[in-house]
Amino acid sequence: MSRLAGRLAEGLADLQSRDLKRARRVIDSPQGAWVSEGGRALANFSSNDYLGLANHARLRAAAHRAIDEHGVGAGASPLVSGNLAAHDAAERRFAQFSGLPRALLFGSGYAANLGILAALAGRDAHIFSDELNHACLIDGARLSRAQVTRFPHGDLDALAALMRESRAQVRVVASDAVFSMDGDIAPVPGLLALCEAHDAWLVLDDAHGMGVLGATGRGTLEHFGLGSPRIIYMATLGKALGGYGAFVAGAPELIEWLVQRARTYIYSTALPPMCAMVAIAALDLLDADRELLASLRSRIAEFTAACAEGGIATLPSATAIHPIVIGDAHATLEAAAWLHQRGFLVPAIRPPTVAEGTSRLRVSLSAAHTRVEVQALVAALVERLAA
Ligand SMILES: *Cc1c(COP(=O)(O)O)cnc(C)c1O
Repeated sequence: MSRLAGRLAEGLADLQSRDLKRARRVIDSPQGAWVSEGGRALANFSSNDYLGLANHARLRAAAHRAIDEHGVGAGASPLVSGNLAAHDAAERRFAQFSGLPRALLFGSGYAANLGILAALAGRDAHIFSDELNHACLIDGARLSRAQVTRFPHGDLDALAALMRESRAQVRVVASDAVFSMDGDIAPVPGLLALCEAHDAWLVLDDAHGMGVLGATGRGTLEHFGLGSPRIIYMATLGKALGGYGAFVAGAPELIEWLVQRARTYIYSTALPPMCAMVAIAALDLLDADRELLASLRSRIAEFTAACAEGGIATLPSATAIHPIVIGDAHATLEAAAWLHQRGFLVPAIRPPTVAEGTSRLRVSLSAAHTRVEVQALVAALVERLAA
């Protein structure tokens, strides 16, 4: 083994010894409330497919149609010739959907957040980032070369004090709207008020809120009844909407600036047109089938009530994400393995995704689950965990 490969082997052995080595499963079915692994059926509480759309017949049909009409690849970056009618239609639809003036499609949520922060904030900027933000907001802030200050999770007083001190030309507050590993909702009205008071942009990552929160599933802005030209709203098409890609919505000047300056937009092949058409079909379905949201909300209420009754301590969450913090990485892995043996797929989330000592089972609920499936999971959790 070469010296460099030897270093990697040591690093891997170290991860293994600390129970931090990740192993991928191979799922041999489509994504859904039930999946198959090695031919064995598992009740799936691990996906972000919150509305059960990843393998929905209407979306599959939309994908087939899109391939027939638009082909499989965009063939170029959007500023060259890859911006097809499918992308244009989806951008108009997402602007309408989010209640903001303009929208722009990106290859993924990860690419969108890197692109936004690096395009908006340069060396003369100051980014304020919630300490529990998703990795791509953290990486986007780093890439921007702005001064970056992490503020304590959801702490508006601490953020206000930090913003008062800042003398930067450009200020940006960045926050997950729904936190991906805790499932809690950011104090968005308070964040927006601070951005107004201190003339700052507010970047909101609604990866886990869109399609879940708000009376019609439009997400965290609908949940709070908010809109503002300061808001830079990002959501992925890969979670509740069941497909792949992402969009950013906001003020016309903002979107035009991203078209001119967001490097992950400019220097990357445009999204396959099928992804744009599948996203439109998902929005159509969300509006046409009110049962989807109602079912997800019933499952959330049933899970929360059954956990409380069974003595399972969950973090408070009105979203589809329900963490059960165990603490120790090894104990969390063992609990996940025990559940897996009984036919439940629930991921063990460990550092560095979450802080040391807060390893957890992360239950995610879907409109595609039934009440009986949710109750069976809670019964298993009670058997394993309740003191
Ligand atoms: C999943 C996720 C992303 C990344 O979105 P992709 O489209 O999967 O790249 C960004 N932010 C948060 C909070 C996420 O959970």
